[in-house]
Amino acid sequence: MTYYIPDDLLAALRAANHILCVSHVNADGDAYGSVLGMTHLLQRLGKHAIAAMPDPVIPDFTFLPGADAIIAPHAVTDVYDLIVCLDMSSPDRMGAVFDPARHAGIPLVVIDHHITNTRFGIANWVEAGCAATSQMLVYLAEALGASPDPEIATCLLTGIVTDTLCFRTSNTTPEVLEAAMHLQRAGANLAATVQRTLNRLPFSTLSLWSRVLADARLEEGVVWVTVSQAQLRAAGHTDDDSRLNSILASVNEADMSAVFTEKINAQGGPAVECSFRAKPGFTVGELAAQLGGGGHAPASGCTLDGALDAVVARVIPLMIAARRAQAMTEPRA
Ligand code: 5GP
Ligand code: MN
Repeated sequence: MTYYIPDDLLAALRAANHILCVSHVNADGDAYGSVLGMTHLLQRLGKHAIAAMPDPVIPDFTFLPGADAIIAPHAVTDVYDLIVCLDMSSPDRMGAVFDPARHAGIPLVVIDHHITNTRFGIANWVEAGCAATSQMLVYLAEALGASPDPEIATCLLTGIVTDTLCFRTSNTTPEVLEAAMHLQRAGANLAATVQRTLNRLPFSTLSLWSRVLADARLEEGVVWVTVSQAQLRAAGHTDDDSRLNSILASVNEADMSAVFTEKINAQGGPAVECSFRAKPGFTVGELAAQLGGGGHAPASGCTLDGALDAVVARVIPLMIAARRAQAMTEPRA
């Protein structure tokens, strides 16, 4: 399998000298892995490159090389001649890092693997067949003539391992395994990467999950839980963990799952972050896109204004209807 990297993307990267690399709010391992891998790669090519993230770096990922140099939105200036947007399907995912007025004159380029990508850059490389944006950067490094060193390899393997739940998702193609093998040969430690990401769980998370799972609901092949701010506070958490939905997605009786987490929106009003998963043969990509979010067929999400109960009451019937329609039209894998 060969991937076609758009010439205009390569040209923009080659021409730029002061580059800001950005990934998305509510960051996961592929967001950190790709933003740091890209930053190191550009630095190795002799460019001034810096990584910025909308939220403070979560402790789980501070082990990544360069994580301590990630800047917060307030430290982002307007001196860049290019902004590289990684692992995000739309510009709003940059949160406060990107200010449309202040950064109006700076071109954006997009490197992403989400099928729902809106292609918002001057050059867009969207590869929905790749399991992680970090996988795409393995090919980009080769195209730019820079083979990954152990630091780059560690960042990129982290993105691949976390987005594929350690090579368990249905998009784990032979190419994914080849990319991971290449990174392992370049100096990344697979066992250490798994140990530092998927195989870790604070006891407080276990305690939160035990409370949340006590109220899990199952209806017509859709299983879901809600996570309230009160439950998060009681567990000493500010956010939940996407692995909670992986547990729901493994329920035998369900084809789709959802986690609804209570949030506060930018105006201080109630909002709910919705995280969706679908078993092979089913898709939640369109559901999230219809609701203003995005993602992939098997894993997607959106954030909706409204109280927890109201959002659940709105979304669950849509999920049940989607699951029913898909069960009729698509054979189960
Ligand atoms: P998770 O459930 O792990 O938070 O997200 C699953 C997938 O959906 C990820 O690929 C993530 O990027 C995407 N996603 C989650 N929430 C949103 C959202 O609000 N907007 C968009 N565009 N994508 C989202
Ligand atoms: Mn990703």
